[in-house]
Amino acid sequence: MQVYKFGGTSVGSPERIKHVARLIQQGGRKIVVLSAMSGTTNTLVEIADYFRRGNKEGASNIINILRGKYLSHIESLYATAEMKERTRSFVEDLFYHLQDMDANAFDEEAEKFVLGQGELLSTNMMVNYLQEQGVRVALISALDFMRKDENDEPDTEYIRTHLSPIIEAHPEVDIFITQGFICRSAQGNIDNLQRGGSDYTASLIGAVLRVEEIQIWTDIDGMHNNDPRIVEGTTPVRHLSFEEAAELAYFGAKILHPTCIQPARYAGVAVRVLNTMEPSAPGTLINNEMQPGVIKAVAAKDNITVVKVVSSRKLLATGFLHMIFEIFEKYKTPIDVITTSEVGVSLTIDNTRHLQLIADELKQFGTVVIDRKQCIVCVVGDLRSQCTGFETLATDALRDIPIRMISFGGSEHNITFVVDMQDKQRTLEQLQARLFGAPAASAEA
Ligand code: ASP
Ligand code: MG
Repeated sequence: MQVYKFGGTSVGSPERIKHVARLIQQGGRKIVVLSAMSGTTNTLVEIADYFRRGNKEGASNIINILRGKYLSHIESLYATAEMKERTRSFVEDLFYHLQDMDANAFDEEAEKFVLGQGELLSTNMMVNYLQEQGVRVALISALDFMRKDENDEPDTEYIRTHLSPIIEAHPEVDIFITQGFICRSAQGNIDNLQRGGSDYTASLIGAVLRVEEIQIWTDIDGMHNNDPRIVEGTTPVRHLSFEEAAELAYFGAKILHPTCIQPARYAGVAVRVLNTMEPSAPGTLINNEMQPGVIKAVAAKDNITVVKVVSSRKLLATGFLHMIFEIFEKYKTPIDVITTSEVGVSLTIDNTRHLQLIADELKQFGTVVIDRKQCIVCVVGDLRSQCTGFETLATDALRDIPIRMISFGGSEHNITFVVDMQDKQRTLEQLQARLFGAPAASAEA
């Protein structure tokens, strides 16, 4: 058994749905997780916004536009009048329910109901199309087995004990289709796994069933070893360990949602990232193996703020870091990179909403300096401390670039630099040239 997941772009039009339908008929038995058609969830968010503000007419207008789109998709997707009619009746019912919602009693539960409609639409359309093609397919509702516990975390035991019997009850089925993203809360209400959560659904299903492989089908040819928009000559990365993938996911490497990595990793199920538009390309394989002595990729994140606290008192005395962290915690501001010395500490944050309040409170400990428009650059690969030379290579590549922070040793897979954003391009190019041997030419040149 395998799990395949297709994102919104992969099922973004009737043509794409047909393409995916052909693709999933190859290979063995599988569970296919689908996102909503691209743009749909964003539109549903907009609809929910109107409802929440009590503007039913505003919601109604957008619902009608979305409904029109789906009705026209039905015309081009199905060949038979019977399947057109069956799908139209489902779609009309669904939009009727949306139109019928009470704007005056629009609570969080109602909002989650609205957000979940996109996946219900895409999966229904796909199953009807496959049935029209004579495929042995079954639609299984994520709402029957995907559930969160009291801590708002996926309840893997519940998922396993509710999903397995559904699969076992259908030995005749080759392809199971289910919705990504949606689930039920511990109270049994419709809920979701956060935006972009379909990858998470696929990973959870693959993990509880311990499938052979989880395939994430997206619209790019795997991960590149550097940002192709900035650096010329980047190449796809064919293999990553789960740890390396986790480091890169923070940088919005965009191919894999960060939460998705954990369940597959614990279950030891490999994840393969593939390109729907180019199915024969090898993609990127992510598993528990570490390729010794190989540097995999360079990634960067912009618009980072560095907060430095310097004091003449002995800062690293017991409890000092704790008090500093507590201030960030109080303002719900995650810290990413941290470096310390005997007299000071530098931290980076991404979210600056409460920066002023944080800085004011930090002043009780020392002098606070804020540097905005910084960039985190991270080198990911086998950087175990007993392997020598890679840190030197990376720092040597940046010998003429002012480095604001360096962090190494937090994990065995990463060395992180913080540089000014105006030096980002040079930093990425010079690392590319030195680590992967590509010419240091600018993509814009
Ligand atoms: N449709 C949801 C979203 O757009 C979930 C997903 O695509 O993974 O966030
Ligand atoms: Mg998506």
